[in-house]
Amino acid sequence: KVRVRFAPSPTGPLHIGGVRTALFNYLFAKKHNGDFILRIEDTDQTRFVEGAESYINESLEWLGMKIDEGVAQGGEYGPYKQSERKEIYIQYADQLIKDGWAYYAFDTPQELEALREKAEAEKTKFSYDMNTRLSLRNSLSMSGDEVEELIAKGEPYVVRFKMPEGVEVSAVDMIRGEVKFNTAILDDKVIFKSDGLPTYHLANVVDDYTMKISHVIRGEEWLPSLPLHIMLYKALGWENERPDFAHLPLILKPTGKGKLSKRDGDKAGFPVFPLEWKSPEGEIASGYRESGYVAEAVVNLLALLGWNPGTEQEIFSMEELIGAFSIERVNKSGARFDPEKARWFNHQYLVNAPDSVLAGQFMPELESRGIVAEIDLVEKVVGLVKERINFVSDLWEQVSFFFVAPEEYDAKVVKKRWKGDVPQFMGNLAGVLESVSDWTADAIKEVIAARIEEEGLGFGLVMNAFRLALVGGGFGPDLMTIAELVGKEETINRVNKAVE
Ligand code: GLU
Repeated sequence: KVRVRFAPSPTGPLHIGGVRTALFNYLFAKKHNGDFILRIEDTDQTRFVEGAESYINESLEWLGMKIDEGVAQGGEYGPYKQSERKEIYIQYADQLIKDGWAYYAFDTPQELEALREKAEAEKTKFSYDMNTRLSLRNSLSMSGDEVEELIAKGEPYVVRFKMPEGVEVSAVDMIRGEVKFNTAILDDKVIFKSDGLPTYHLANVVDDYTMKISHVIRGEEWLPSLPLHIMLYKALGWENERPDFAHLPLILKPTGKGKLSKRDGDKAGFPVFPLEWKSPEGEIASGYRESGYVAEAVVNLLALLGWNPGTEQEIFSMEELIGAFSIERVNKSGARFDPEKARWFNHQYLVNAPDSVLAGQFMPELESRGIVAEIDLVEKVVGLVKERINFVSDLWEQVSFFFVAPEEYDAKVVKKRWKGDVPQFMGNLAGVLESVSDWTADAIKEVIAARIEEEGLGFGLVMNAFRLALVGGGFGPDLMTIAELVGKEETINRVNKAVE
């Protein structure tokens, strides 16, 4: 059975990269009728951030990714939070030591720092590895008695993985094909810390195995850890049961140069977080939701960051994505994030949403402006302009004149349009409009057109002036429809006011 996990560390808000990883896991799981598991990787207590875990849950929920097993959801393979699985890791760390795959190391942080500085001064780099380990303070270089004594004395220690020399490690990445590493360039990573918790590497491998994860789908930044993880599977005797791996391409800055970062979002005016994030220090960064993005649009745009369906189709519902997704169609190379395209996706979702839904979302803004409007009217108005907006918050600017008369007139348009015979015609327009008995766009147009012809004026010329009177500028949807919706009395009032 396909079982995949999204395994964030609760060190802050999720950003696009993390959400995209979650989404690809989710799509892969659902495509194969599998389970989507949320595991909280909180073994680095120094980086723990209050509130991050619930933020992760809420973000996934908002985007419509249902979690099958997790801290809040429970499940057969729990606990799903690493800090609650200490005993499990201790057991496997002990096993690795017993089998000669790992060792105790007593070097203090100060000692290691001194070695690093010394190496730097000599323009080399210190590495705790097969070449140096025997000259350091660990259970490989010391006698068994010495080691026992230190442990009995309560001397702090870490457990390091004893990376074997000169082993070719290879694996087939589902996206990249065969990847090969040689252990000669790898160091002896700490797998268990002096605080009684494992590091990411041990916990991750142990959990993926004990939680029966079938496929590990994660960001490219974890590719360098793959050889260590593969060696850990081997050392733990799980070589033949290890999951398949897929490392997703980076998400690149809008310029295409370098990895997209949190700061890019602020600078270029697009969000990088799904939800608004309030840091423990009180800083607020608004997310996609608060910036007016529709959840479905965010899912859609993230799905196409690194994956393509192989067809021209760009708009996908979650169900369609599940149907179309395949990990083989994920690219190896980085995916450039395009803020313009992100807004375009949102636009598509707004345009395709029923007018009643958009109207419902727009009502609160009208209310906050003290405008009492019939929902029927709001629906019509929204339907007329939705082609012109990317966000519901763009609506007001497009439709304010349906609800309040313009307070000023665009000076440029006045200069260009309010001249010649036009002012005089406009002066008489109120009377003309009075004579329209059936106040519909067609009837209004017919009456005005007849009058324009009688006077021998240009239709377009007059329409520009009429628009100026009704909306205050040279924009907006079909003018006769505006007149119809604004109503007879109000239209006449606005024409009179403009003439003054
Ligand atoms: N805890 C890791 C992270 O924060 C998970 C990496 C993985 O999926 O193996 O990204």
